[in-house]
This record gives sequence, structure tokens and C-alpha cells, in this order.
Amino acid sequence: MHTPTVAAVPAADLPAGTTALFLTLGSALVALYTAGPDSGDWCRWRCLGCGARSWHAEMRSMAREDANDHAATCRSIPWPRPEQA
Ligand SMILES: [Zn+2]
Repeated sequence: MHTPTVAAVPAADLPAGTTALFLTLGSALVALYTAGPDSGDWCRWRCLGCGARSWHAEMRSMAREDANDHAATCRSIPWPRPEQA
């Protein structure tokens, strides 16, 4: 049985307030994060592979769906950090 390998991004690269991560087809991560310290259930998302992001804050359920939809179609691979290049 083959176990998929996940290329983990160091926590320092994740947006502040990250609450969920989605894996793209190319093994990059899409981060779902709170829109701010007092934002309640409002969230944004950003792909750590291709840089795509939400244009505005959305309710968590909508932002989560958009982040997952992006991850399901994005073929971006994790961008190497300078010390890894
Ligand atoms: Zn992407």
C-alpha cells in the first residue's frame, strides 16, 4: 500500500490565524485563516503554491469551500524557500 507523501510547509510560512490547510494536486498548501483578531467567523484563504487568494473576507464555511475548491484544481508545487533552492 502506497502512503502519499505530504510536503509540509514550516509553520512560520503560514498566515497568522491559520485554522485549516488544504493540499493542492501538486502538494502545495492552501491556508484558511481568520480575517483578523476580532473577525469572529470571517476568514480568508491563500494558496502557498501559486499565490492565489480570496479577494475579501467571507464567512468561514464559504471561505473553506473556496479554499478547498482551489486546492482541488491547483497544480502548483511548493515554492522552494531561498535556503532550499
Ligand atoms: Zn494555487
